[in-house]
Amino acid sequence: QLSLRLERVAKHVPKGAIVADIGSDHAYLPCFLVLNGMVKRAVAGEVVKGPFESAKKQVQQEQLENQITVRLASGLAAIHPEDGVTAVTIAGMGGPLIVSILTEGIARLEGVERLILQPNVHAKAIRDWAQQNGWNVHSEEILKENDKIYEILVLERAEANSVLTETELLMGPYLMKERSPVFIEKWRRESAQWKKIVASMEATEQTVEILSRKNDLVHKIQLVEEVLNNEN
Ligand code: SAM
Repeated sequence: QLSLRLERVAKHVPKGAIVADIGSDHAYLPCFLVLNGMVKRAVAGEVVKGPFESAKKQVQQEQLENQITVRLASGLAAIHPEDGVTAVTIAGMGGPLIVSILTEGIARLEGVERLILQPNVHAKAIRDWAQQNGWNVHSEEILKENDKIYEILVLERAEANSVLTETELLMGPYLMKERSPVFIEKWRRESAQWKKIVASMEATEQTVEILSRKNDLVHKIQLVEEVLNNEN
């Protein structure tokens, strides 16, 4: 039984793709994709020995060794040119770690048409990266599972350079338009959290560093509240 989070990630993988799942852990996602006939072949990449062994075991149990290659490798080094990978999934890590994987392995993305990324936190880092590296946000999704809120970002190669505003980079251009109840909940939680941090900063000595971090947060709270308060 796949988590709702990974099921939603799976939905964004183009039918018939050759997919690489980076940081695959138990390889649940590639197994699900192949077993349901959603992709032709898959690569499962893991940098840590334990999860790599779990992934191999899972693939053997499902008798999918002919369709899924499990590799012990850091980031996109798990992708070999002869794989012909067309889509990459990276799920369950922080946005900045996903960005560092994409940045380090950017040469391995040749031939890749779509990135399906599910950052646990700080999705903004991914939108910033996309904008700076010739990818567009193609679609976005937000969901809640076990009281945790997750975002999924689907990136495709940019034909024209679409420039996102500061608020769009922070909150997501499509998610902002959609304004789902989960989206509203996420940003209410975030801004409440930031307000607490600001209050605690105000109670300490105002060094230049604290002041600048505080101003950053106050600015972000303003951006978020503008969206939350704008009913249309
Ligand atoms: N993708 C699965 C999911 O969403 O449920 C597993 C998420 S798990 C929290 C993160 C996995 O990424 C861990 O198994 C970790 O070993 C792996 N990982 C972290 N950095 C990595 C890297 N640079 N290359 C490959 N795997 C990495």
